[in-house]
Amino acid sequence: MFRLALHWQILIGMVVGGAVGVGLNVFASTSRVVITEGLPADLDRLEITDSTDGTQFRLLASDQTARTLFVGHADGAAEGVEVFGSLKELRASEPALASLYVSQGMSQAHRWGDRFKRLGGLFLRLLKMVAVPLIVTSLASGVLGLGGTASLGRMFSRTLGYYLATSMLAIITGLVVVNIVRPGLGANGLPQAGAAEPVAAEGLGEVLFSQIEAMIPENPFAALVEPNFLSIIAFTIGFSIFAMLAGGEIASAVRKAAETAFAVMMAMTTAIIRLAPAGVLFLMASVTATQGLAVFRSLAFYMVAVALALGFHAVVTLPAIVWFFARRNPLAYAKAMSPALLTAFSSASSNGTLPLTLSCVEHRAGVRNRTASFVLPLGATINMDGTALYEAVAVLFIAQLHFGEMLPLSQQIVVAITALLASVGAAGIPHAGLVMMAIILQAVGLPAESQGIILAVDRILDMMRTSVNVWSDSCGCAVVDALEEASA
Ligand code: ASP
Repeated sequence: MFRLALHWQILIGMVVGGAVGVGLNVFASTSRVVITEGLPADLDRLEITDSTDGTQFRLLASDQTARTLFVGHADGAAEGVEVFGSLKELRASEPALASLYVSQGMSQAHRWGDRFKRLGGLFLRLLKMVAVPLIVTSLASGVLGLGGTASLGRMFSRTLGYYLATSMLAIITGLVVVNIVRPGLGANGLPQAGAAEPVAAEGLGEVLFSQIEAMIPENPFAALVEPNFLSIIAFTIGFSIFAMLAGGEIASAVRKAAETAFAVMMAMTTAIIRLAPAGVLFLMASVTATQGLAVFRSLAFYMVAVALALGFHAVVTLPAIVWFFARRNPLAYAKAMSPALLTAFSSASSNGTLPLTLSCVEHRAGVRNRTASFVLPLGATINMDGTALYEAVAVLFIAQLHFGEMLPLSQQIVVAITALLASVGAAGIPHAGLVMMAIILQAVGLPAESQGIILAVDRILDMMRTSVNVWSDSCGCAVVDALEEASA
């Protein structure tokens, strides 16, 4: 029977999901209801206006005093309105209003967006379910398959060399593009971010030191449960090295056990991957149904700058590296990796995509397990080219808005270095890059709140940078594998 290749199925899922979501967004994302019955005793009337930019609640109390509440981004709200960042926040202080919203005030786009999110979430749960055992068994069988600590050391330095070089190239690309496009300068009609009180972000030294701490888990089992990927990776590598050093029967027993369990986990992962088209469809539909569109217009230049820089890195720099160092056809390699890249795009999580990335690299691109199992788990945690580039562009954009001019070169170098380190510290989960950005903003004297302006479009940019993160990890596999083969 004719069966469409997996990457086509996923692509179709993505397009159909996107179309359904956009349809809901355009035709069913605004609603207005007036509720007069079944209200709490102190209320006479409640009007709920829902849209993708936020939800407004107008309350008329029994004593005829009026109040307005807004759930969404603060900049979408008018003066004198009480603002809540999310429905969860509203529920914490006004549970009755939150449940009236859910039962009567929600637009169809929000309602269906939530349903799709939960359905797509099932696919992500399956991937998360296999992630920890897959990483442990894959890494252990990979390290034990290397046959000696000398080859492990060589692989380690090559991998780190690749991570560092490509992240730096990504950041430079970002800086060049933002200096040319200058999205935050000129007449683009954006409000200047007002000077606000600086807030204390965790220092960079602190973040990096806590990464080192994570590499020495106090309790490896707790790390498995949490899960903390860096702890798991460090402990598994340590365990495998000592099994190797113990040698003989012990080493071969541990290796056999790891390989056996790995084969089972890989079979499970392969089965789960068949669900990727449906998972991607639901995830895309939920994102596109609920994303506010108005912000796109005002932040268009900024988004174009990020997309251009990410595109250059993904389409020019990384393929050139693959072609030059791995002697592979970058196009064929990208096609082999496409299920992982498309899933990374729709889930915005490199950790979540990791099982798929591992499976694509080994089964579709033919990279050896010993390389893939080493380069990918580590890469998903610490090698984030897309995130590093994004941080640099975003911080320079905010600086342009804030100071009304480009940052001087010396400050741009500070941004480059802190962006690199922040990308190492960022977790492979949605919006992790935003959290880390506070550190870079602080390094160049910008208040963390100035980030507010870019929040509304972070999801879509997160999807793009996560695909680039996963693409860079995959290219790293091809490069390290080829270098290893050459020196074997
Ligand atoms: N979502 C990204 C990832 O998982 C991290 C980020 O927010 O930049 O790779």
